[in-house]
Amino acid sequence: MRRMLIALLALAVLAPLTPARAGEPKFVLVTMDGVRWQEVFRGADPAIVNDKRFVNPDIKDDVVNPAYVTVHDRAAALMPFLHGKIAHDGVLIGNRDAGECASVANDMWFSYPGYNEILTGKPDPSIVENDKIWNKNVSFLEYLQHQPAFHGKVEMVGTWTLFPYIVNTQRTDLPVNAGFHGSYPTDVKTAREGLALLSRHDRVIYVAFGDSDEFAHAGDYAHYLAALERGDEYLREIWQRLQSDPFYKGQTTLFVSTDHGRGDKPIGYWRDHASQRYFDINPKSQPEYNGVGVPGSANVFMAALGPAVKREGAAAYRGGACAYSQQIAASALTALGLDWRVFATDIGEPLAFIDHE
Ligand SMILES: [Zn+2]
Repeated sequence: MRRMLIALLALAVLAPLTPARAGEPKFVLVTMDGVRWQEVFRGADPAIVNDKRFVNPDIKDDVVNPAYVTVHDRAAALMPFLHGKIAHDGVLIGNRDAGECASVANDMWFSYPGYNEILTGKPDPSIVENDKIWNKNVSFLEYLQHQPAFHGKVEMVGTWTLFPYIVNTQRTDLPVNAGFHGSYPTDVKTAREGLALLSRHDRVIYVAFGDSDEFAHAGDYAHYLAALERGDEYLREIWQRLQSDPFYKGQTTLFVSTDHGRGDKPIGYWRDHASQRYFDINPKSQPEYNGVGVPGSANVFMAALGPAVKREGAAAYRGGACAYSQQIAASALTALGLDWRVFATDIGEPLAFIDHE
């Protein structure tokens, strides 16, 4: 009896120290527009850096080479948080050099189709342009905003003017802070607003960065690299903030990806993205790519960190299956402890590295 009492006392003392997954699950999604897996996993490409069209020779040797090229580990120098904390404690996939596969499932390979796929869980073949069209598809954000347990606790902040259309703010009262006035770069502002959402204790937050795509289209490789480095730094700040707040700490899963990749060869193709089907539909949009599209721009990367991440699950995408962007919506709902099939049954199933229990 006395031994039992001691055991009970011991349990009472120990119990508060091990609240494995106390509190309600939270989810933070971050996207960086049009980021190539090549930079994520190989770091800066010396051939592009050495091309005068893409990096001003005046800053090449003084700034770009020492920062990103003549370093011990180019990928880690460019995105240290992704290759440090996230790859170490969570999951980072999409490295085609290592036989990994991550891709969009849509056949357009640009932003509206990509974000639609990520947020609604399936591609929509009728979306063939980046136009200001109210999306007829329902995003997992809109679905959650209409659930009593989540109402008023779901928000997004983004750089791009089309986000209100993609999540259809005409139909939902989901707060969307997007399309800032002024010209790019706007990620500094997006990050500041995103961190402000954490202070409001939302349960689901989506932060959408855009500078990477803008600088790539402009052919400015040095600023494209700097945008990736900044994005990585924002991820670190977001994660640190989550871990310093008892509302989020230990209960929040962070998921990071992009809406599409970019081209690879010939060398100038790194600037652009889109499929041949897109050019078939819009033959005058960029004549130099007619007939070939921009090969490889369907490829993406994905990263995840937090209590819903099951690291060993990532092995499925190393030399086997492909991870698709259309699986992110079901993954988010699963990470929140919900049954994704209640949202929709015709969407991509949760990724293998998201805990299904
Ligand atoms: Zn683009």
